Amino acid sequence: MSQLQTLAHAQALDEKDPLRPYATEFYKKDGITYVDGNSLGLCSKRAEQAVLSVFAMWKQHGIDGWGEGTYPWFTLSERIGQALASLVGAHPDEVIATGSTTSNLHQLLATFYRPEGKRTKIVTDALNFPTDFYVIKSHLRLHHDDGQTHLRVVESQDGHTLCEDDIIAAMDEEVAVVLLSSVLYRSAQRLSLKKLTDAAHARGIIIGFDLCHSIGSIPHTLSADGVDFAVWCTYKHLNGGPGSVAGLYVHRRHHDRMPGLAGWFGSNKEKQFDMSPTFTQGDGAGAFQMGTPHLLSLAPLIGALELFAEVGLEAVREKSLKLTDYFLALLAAFPETQVFTVRTPIAHEQRGGHIYLEHKEAARICKALKQAGVIPDYRAPSGIRIAPVALYNSFTDVYTVVITLRQIMKDKTYERFSNTREVIA
Ligand SMILES: *Cc1c(COP(=O)(O)O)cnc(C)c1O
Repeated sequence: MSQLQTLAHAQALDEKDPLRPYATEFYKKDGITYVDGNSLGLCSKRAEQAVLSVFAMWKQHGIDGWGEGTYPWFTLSERIGQALASLVGAHPDEVIATGSTTSNLHQLLATFYRPEGKRTKIVTDALNFPTDFYVIKSHLRLHHDDGQTHLRVVESQDGHTLCEDDIIAAMDEEVAVVLLSSVLYRSAQRLSLKKLTDAAHARGIIIGFDLCHSIGSIPHTLSADGVDFAVWCTYKHLNGGPGSVAGLYVHRRHHDRMPGLAGWFGSNKEKQFDMSPTFTQGDGAGAFQMGTPHLLSLAPLIGALELFAEVGLEAVREKSLKLTDYFLALLAAFPETQVFTVRTPIAHEQRGGHIYLEHKEAARICKALKQAGVIPDYRAPSGIRIAPVALYNSFTDVYTVVITLRQIMKDKTYERFSNTREVIA
């Protein structure tokens, strides 16, 4: 056995890991190796405490919780927005915590998609997340007869990754808006936001990104890159909890734009309770809020984001790459696990925080993994996503995943399960 193949090697890597103490901040179950943090991050003790604090404020203050207590609710979305701004490399007034990824996409396409003359098309790519397609087509239907004619979809050459030059080639004088994901949800390919933004702007096109799979795993520089708008969820790598409030970013150069979908929480805060029928737009990204914030789904973020402020995203990214490099090396080290096709780009700058493996028995291999205490993520028809998360996964966790996978392939235990998708996968 080579040194790499030993548990001792994994343990030695853990000894040297500066983020190791943070695993105890999370609820990890004994005997379970959770590598699904790119679908739903684990619960932290700090997130739990923050929810209890907001709950206590409700008990104690009733309506006065809007202005009193530890985290006055009236300004909490802005306060969380500031913490999120530092994670995406934006000015504090460019980010707000609000809505969901889907509702924020609707808000920002309603704001930025203004077909005019020949410039009527929206560009996205064939590998984008379904909700992004549904939102785009909704807006195309609002402006045109159908949701198809003005949609331009950039195809993937290999079915898993995109070629940035193909995307740029689709940007012409007929394009109004480009909407892409920063990291693809399946293959975890990472796109260059700067390169694509420069190309769009050189052609007079507005460009926005969906950061669901990169926020909390990769540092961003949205303002400096000049990105026009962005959205993201907070329940994946940010560990905000199921359905936690999402985020949106709008570059300062667009802060005079009227929100496409205005609501009273987008008002100037001093004016909101004037109760005027005329909207007085709030400052910055806050103007893109709609109704009353979902306080109980915002609360966990107070605690969850504290961890990121303490650790810093550079350290998170550094460990994340080490974990996925180690995973790939181990996978290649055993004959039984060499049967998987790795669809994630190998180059660090093109890789997000998870690894996507393909195998025709993927559905039942995932069921066998779960039964053996490893929680992966299945994507039909043949994908297995493994996301070792820097804040709570160890090198020993990665070792356990590969050794378990090896055993399952060796004994063919997956044959005891049906190779079909569950309702939630
Ligand atoms: C997870 C995810 C979403 C989810 O959107 P919700 O509105 O939170 O349901 C959207 N886009 C991408 C790329 C995702 O990965």
